Amino acid sequence: MTLAHELAPKIQAFMDAGHFTVATQDWHPPNHVSFSSRSHPCGSHVLNSSGSDVKVFLPHCIAGLRGSDLAAPLEHFSFSFYIKKGTKASLECLSAFRDNAKTSTGLDEWLKSKKVDTVVIVGVATEHCIYRTALDAIDMGFKTYVVIDCVAGVDEIASLKALNKMKALPGIELCRWDEVEKLFLYTRQFNF
Ligand SMILES: [Zn+2]
Repeated sequence: MTLAHELAPKIQAFMDAGHFTVATQDWHPPNHVSFSSRSHPCGSHVLNSSGSDVKVFLPHCIAGLRGSDLAAPLEHFSFSFYIKKGTKASLECLSAFRDNAKTSTGLDEWLKSKKVDTVVIVGVATEHCIYRTALDAIDMGFKTYVVIDCVAGVDEIASLKALNKMKALPGIELCRWDEVEKLFLYTRQFNF
């Protein structure tokens, strides 16, 4: 079972409870800065146009092509807000909130327009997009939960390191899905 299959009923429960849900998709041009080439093999680092360091991956999530869609069980979900990120060839955008040049994806503004003050983060990859999204979330003032049994990383050691770094940051709470259920899904039944 893929992570997306495991997450689908959980995200559905979140939607059913009336919470906003946001989906992000990498949506890269074919010449994206993070893509490996003969001179920049997978795992190496390059500088992007904002001057920051970018890790090189195999080409992935090329806009409109197979692999850029949401994973199968989620593609027909009606999320409240969709973010397509990494759309500029010269810039990486790991965070759901902003690219490496600190240009907003619109998520911060959208969440604040909806008076959202708390975010719950699930998905991939723990040491890349999850980590950078969580860091930006606290930077932008959101109480932030990262659900450790609902995230997956590319590299196990790097993922553990990222989780430890997040754990040490005030404002980020690492929790398990059963805690999320208690905090956000079962609260109504106690409001007699
Ligand atoms: Zn990417």
